[in-house]
Amino acid sequence: MTQLDAILLIAWRLHNCRDIWTDQKLIDVLVFAVDGKLSFHYSCNCFLGVESSSVLHVRHAPKFICPEPRHYVKHKTSIDGAPEAEEAFLRLAPNDEGRNKKMVTLLQDEIGIRRREQEKSMEQVPGECVPV
Ligand SMILES: [Zn+2]
Repeated sequence: MTQLDAILLIAWRLHNCRDIWTDQKLIDVLVFAVDGKLSFHYSCNCFLGVESSSVLHVRHAPKFICPEPRHYVKHKTSIDGAPEAEEAFLRLAPNDEGRNKKMVTLLQDEIGIRRREQEKSMEQVPGECVPV
């Protein structure tokens, strides 16, 4: 998987898996990524970790107790495309700093796309007369 493949896969997932990537999740993870909290190496705050958390949290110490036990494992083994998404997150950049930066861009792009979609749908009011 090339870096471009990884970017496209993550962008596709953010746009199409809206049961997971709700408008609120995009914003929550954007704030998380701006703070540099995404990490490939920790199950709670890797890409699948944040997809599967109802409240984002960082695994930071050996004795850390996760508030949602096994959310990462359950998600990875039960959600379509999860292993591929995990690999794509790894390939986004050579380190977590780069991954956080790429995710900020991808999340901002998707938030912008949805905002434009909403504006467009508000312009097309059902039943409105359209001049021919
Ligand atoms: Zn956790």
